[in-house]
Amino acid sequence: MNDLLSRLGLTSSNPGAWAGAALPSAGVGTVVSYNPTTGEPIAEIQLASVAQYEEIMATAVRQQKAWQLYPAPKRGEIIRQMGEALRAHRDDLGALVSLEVGKITGEGVGEVQEAIDIADFSVGLSRQLYGLSMHSERANHRMYEQWHPLGTVGVITAFNFPCAVWAWNSMIAAICGDAVVWKPSLKAPLIAIATHRICEDVLAKNGWSGLFGLVIGTDKDVGETMIRDPRLPLVSATGSVRMGRYVGTVVAERLGRTLLELGGNNAIIVDKDADLDLALRGILFGAVGTAGQRCTTTRRLFLHKDISARFTERLVKLYGQVRIGDPMAEGTLMGPLIDEGAVRDYELAVAEATRQGGTVLCGGKRVDRPGHFVEPTLIAADPAMSIVKHETFAPILYVMEFSDLDQAIHHQNDVPQGLSSSIFTNSFRSAEAFLSARGSDCGIANVNIGTSGAEIGGAFGGEKETGGGRESGSDSWKAYMRRQTCTLNYGADLPLAQNLRFDL
Ligand code: NAD
Repeated sequence: MNDLLSRLGLTSSNPGAWAGAALPSAGVGTVVSYNPTTGEPIAEIQLASVAQYEEIMATAVRQQKAWQLYPAPKRGEIIRQMGEALRAHRDDLGALVSLEVGKITGEGVGEVQEAIDIADFSVGLSRQLYGLSMHSERANHRMYEQWHPLGTVGVITAFNFPCAVWAWNSMIAAICGDAVVWKPSLKAPLIAIATHRICEDVLAKNGWSGLFGLVIGTDKDVGETMIRDPRLPLVSATGSVRMGRYVGTVVAERLGRTLLELGGNNAIIVDKDADLDLALRGILFGAVGTAGQRCTTTRRLFLHKDISARFTERLVKLYGQVRIGDPMAEGTLMGPLIDEGAVRDYELAVAEATRQGGTVLCGGKRVDRPGHFVEPTLIAADPAMSIVKHETFAPILYVMEFSDLDQAIHHQNDVPQGLSSSIFTNSFRSAEAFLSARGSDCGIANVNIGTSGAEIGGAFGGEKETGGGRESGSDSWKAYMRRQTCTLNYGADLPLAQNLRFDL
């Protein structure tokens, strides 16, 4: 463990150096990073004070003033170097993700790969920040739209994607000409420090030190200061609906923008004509992967009544074969939950589901070993149960039956969240109905693919209480820029729009 930490520059002799500038210890306390696999501490980290936030913020704002004038393709070149630096540290950083948040090795490395992919995507995008041109209704006039940098962007991240979500925001924001100040989850500070250091080294080599700031501070001090800071025209926040509702309200009050990526309650529909082997694999990865701690985790399953009994039997058998344990050990499929609070939420949800009439088909208990391990759980449920409409961040899958596709789509949409959804079917009609306007109401709708594991090329995000934000690919970059409509008159007259006359 110590070798890994020192390869990533996380030595205890430089606790202040992570912040992008060498800062004095603030005396505001520390946060301990725990290994969820053992429950033991990994490191203790000095928390940033509001004064340190001010210093980091001021540097980012200063750098952004110059960065926005630096040509976008040249910004892209620096992001290309960041992608290379992350590539060089991919396996170590991935191992740190496993160590600090308990993802299995493939998922830990996969998360860093996502950061690399978004860097590659951003490099290409740096030459494609296109605006539209329009035909003016006035003679000798030209109209077009252009996109300017927005300024400095505040990024708040959740514990469960401690590297990739920052990269989704920061790489794109940077090529758009923005600076970024990052407040990560206090449950995953080491990954933030390591990721930040790798990228800060690249920035420093290119003369842009501090363009990306990192502030590891409490919600009460640093978080509150950040969301109220008028120097941040955009706050991109990933986390629970509770957090998003609060952050969204505070930022809206100062008429700032938010990009909210909040909780999901994702469902898979398995129709009677589906390829059931494919569906089983998609459900297993979707519901059990990352121990149910993805925003896109499959939490509800709707099975057609004709295949339901036999399919559930196969699923229960498959669940019994999931190897739970050390996420870094070969062959492990499910690691721990992040902390004791998450185990408690899991136990409460299982108890509540039973109280509401659900039947535990398998799992339902914590695993008797050190760390925060629970069993992957299947619960036979009814869509009317209120617990089914709630996101519990744990590997609990509610299994329900349907007889008609419209009914299944209705139930799948009948929750407050709207992130990811999928249908397994070999029917063209059912697939198209699911994707049509009367189909899934989610930001992500898949056919014959589970709900989790999105590619970075598409816009990522969801509707309703999931917050409406879009990040990552497609034209998500527009959220990080301001749009300007320009009209130029190259004639000798001054005609007004709508043929209006205003002559003396
Ligand atoms: P959380 O809401 O507890 O915390 C998320 C972040 O918000 C943390 O950095 C936290 O410190 C910060 N925060 C909380 N209150 C704040 C305040 N007043 N001011 C500023 N910052 C504040 O969420 P979590 O437990 O870390 O993550 C799990 C949740 O995140 C789940 O609901 C999951 O679905 C969601 N999530 C969503 C997406 C998505 O893209 N839609 C991705 C990952 C996670």
